[in-house]
Amino acid sequence: MVGDQPALEAEAGVDHVVDRTAGGEGVVGLPVGPARVGVGIDLRVDDLQVGCPAAEHPPHRPDLGAVEVLEHGILKVRVGRVTGRHRLSVLARERLVEAVDQRGVGGRVAWHAADRIRDRAAACEHGTAMGQPRRKRELGRGERVLPGVWRLRLPLPWPGVPHVNAFAVRAGEGIVLFDTGMATEDGQRQLELALAQVGFRLEDVSLVVCTHAHTDHYGLAAPILERAECELWMHPAWEHIRGMIDDPDGSLDRRIEVARQSGVPAKALERYEESRRGGNTGIVRAVEPDRELVPGVEVETDLGSWQVIETPGHAPSHVCLHQPESGLVISGDHLLGRISLFFDYGHTPDPVGEFIGGLDEVDKLGHTTLCLAGHGRPFRDIPAKVEGNRAELAGHLDRVRAALGGEPRTAFEIVGELVGPENYNPAMAAWGLQIALAYLDHLALLGEVEEVEGSDPRRWRLT
Ligand SMILES: [Zn+2]
Ligand SMILES: [Zn+2]
Repeated sequence: MVGDQPALEAEAGVDHVVDRTAGGEGVVGLPVGPARVGVGIDLRVDDLQVGCPAAEHPPHRPDLGAVEVLEHGILKVRVGRVTGRHRLSVLARERLVEAVDQRGVGGRVAWHAADRIRDRAAACEHGTAMGQPRRKRELGRGERVLPGVWRLRLPLPWPGVPHVNAFAVRAGEGIVLFDTGMATEDGQRQLELALAQVGFRLEDVSLVVCTHAHTDHYGLAAPILERAECELWMHPAWEHIRGMIDDPDGSLDRRIEVARQSGVPAKALERYEESRRGGNTGIVRAVEPDRELVPGVEVETDLGSWQVIETPGHAPSHVCLHQPESGLVISGDHLLGRISLFFDYGHTPDPVGEFIGGLDEVDKLGHTTLCLAGHGRPFRDIPAKVEGNRAELAGHLDRVRAALGGEPRTAFEIVGELVGPENYNPAMAAWGLQIALAYLDHLALLGEVEEVEGSDPRRWRLT
């Protein structure tokens, strides 16, 4: 079949599907077949564009005849022939909601994405007559990435970060578990559910390896170690999290004081305190590593041994793991498919500088193929992602410099410019303040900015 025949086909026997929530407005998924696009809420055919986001392949609106409403907002999209390598994107209302790598296969296209649409489609089916999707509660999900490697996608209670990934890698009779998921009310059950889907139980875990000591990657370590009677390996600089676990009130007090000194208004501080005080810490309890995960230590699996690369910055304890023969990298939050920078502020003098050093370390790895990231789907082209992170970071630093072009300002005053006024909301502000403070420290160490002596709240200016 040639010409304008639909060219979307699945690779034999593989259920390649992608889905993504677009700003809480709708869900678009692309199963294969002829591609079906599951659309929640009020997205309409006219809202969709399908195309390649690369400049030479501008997105094009599909021929309306090629889009068909199936049921409950599930659209069937027929896309014309695609040859060569592309990233095929689906845009809803000008916003990119999904992009997947495409590979031409004998004149056909195979989807290269691993998620499944089942639960999203179910959410659509449960939508009301008004088209409001009543989201089914997300469940932990396990899926094979490669022979002997499974992704465990675990729900998170955070808006904007719906899941965290743990990875199970076969090691003899059992599995090494990289990261744990967060200790939410039913976090452990979700992990067990995801493991069960790929044929394992907690008792099969022979070793827990944490990429870093953040709640979503380390929170369930304690109960897993108890059930599996195995060891925990983690970087020695994990203590930054201990204060939050052992003394959540004191640690919240300190964060509020930093925010006050950074110019956050009293009302916003009150709201923040109300939402946090007495809340769940996300970590069952502090457990010390049995072995310190530092360069030279190797994690043995059936796939081969994994080497430790120190990549602090996102968190002081952050490491990536590299399997040299297969080229796989377990990247935690150091590299994500959708670039999102975060620096755990206040534990080390220059988390931004540390993060840049970590990017250089990943760059040196030589053979890399697939990145198993802590959030989102695995992705290829790790060097391009490193470069993307550098560019994002350079852009942020430029925005901070530009924001300090006039009168001295507080960290809080530059957050709006940093995250972009269109993205500004309370959750973004909390994230933005952390990274703004980290950038100010970084630029101060470079001698580019200085704190105005004796200012309270603290104000900064260019030198
Ligand atoms: Zn993290
Ligand atoms: Zn994370």
